[in-house]
Amino acid sequence: MQLKRVAQATLPTPWGDFLMVGFEEISTGKDHAALVFGDISGPAPVLARVHSECLTGDALFSLRCDCGFQLESALNAIATEGRGVLLYHRQEGRNIGLLNKIRAYSLQDKGYDTVEANLKLGFAADERDFTLCADMFKLLEVDAVRLLTNNPAKVRVLTEAGINISERVPLEVGRNPKNTGYLDTKALKMGHLLQHNDD
Ligand SMILES: [Zn+2]
Repeated sequence: MQLKRVAQATLPTPWGDFLMVGFEEISTGKDHAALVFGDISGPAPVLARVHSECLTGDALFSLRCDCGFQLESALNAIATEGRGVLLYHRQEGRNIGLLNKIRAYSLQDKGYDTVEANLKLGFAADERDFTLCADMFKLLEVDAVRLLTNNPAKVRVLTEAGINISERVPLEVGRNPKNTGYLDTKALKMGHLLQHNDD
């Protein structure tokens, strides 16, 4: 276990009242959070989203990616279901950090795609560690989930980490003229399962 559960409080949102649970990485002190809606106890698989931090998309209205749209749509889906959890996984920019993400965006402005830009900066295409998310599920006593994602790598890594994923629920929102290239690259080079690649 890489995390400990340290605090919780109600978080009212436009979609309803969530329980916000705070976690701390034991080795680094870095914080993560989960938003829990309704009663997630019991054996029935819980509708869940593993959302990786994207300051530009989540908080600054960026149209370069689909993160903000996915965050909003996932919270809405969970509240509509009446039961679920969103993990807010604080690994900004596929875990290269905000400043390197801005450097990668600069390269993308010069014509590199999202994968090429990360490689040129000396990173893997995706540096995220989803085992932390498996630990958050375990600390929330969630064993089985219906995972809102288009990313098969997330399904694979969480399954390997001991999370039972009974179903993958697509989450395709927020395509716009500014992020079409980014989404197409995720589909072509990172295996994301997007239905509307020809839009
Ligand atoms: Zn984003």
